[in-house]
Amino acid sequence: MSDTTAETQNQPFTVEQFYKFIKDKKIMAVKCTKCGSTYLPPRPMCTNCLSKELTWFELEKTGKLVTYTVIYIAPVQFKDIAPYAYGIVELRKGLRLPGIIKGIDLEKLEIGMDLTVDFDTETSETWPNWPKYYFRPP
Ligand SMILES: [Zn+2]
Repeated sequence: MSDTTAETQNQPFTVEQFYKFIKDKKIMAVKCTKCGSTYLPPRPMCTNCLSKELTWFELEKTGKLVTYTVIYIAPVQFKDIAPYAYGIVELRKGLRLPGIIKGIDLEKLEIGMDLTVDFDTETSETWPNWPKYYFRPP
């Protein structure tokens, strides 16, 4: 799963770059090569040992639902899909990703269930141009 190409590793350790990887349908996190700490979202410096020697690595796309909430009063760009669930999924120990959950009845959601990341390819005029991901049952 790891992507060690120079092209990947030369990219800045920023949230903007995280979304560029989303466009390539990859969930990328950052690892400190000194102490092994991992970060999602990425950070430009390890907050554990202050090293700037970091490396990108790709995460599995399936994880466990840690917590969720149901949104009834949605921001304008999500008005059409309300009510919807917004959850946090742990893709690897300590690495958690927040996002909208689709493709499941709200009453069937359960803490600890498997959810997998999928990618939204449709573009929206009302959303910033960043690529989108969401969670769905595997
Ligand atoms: Zn470190």
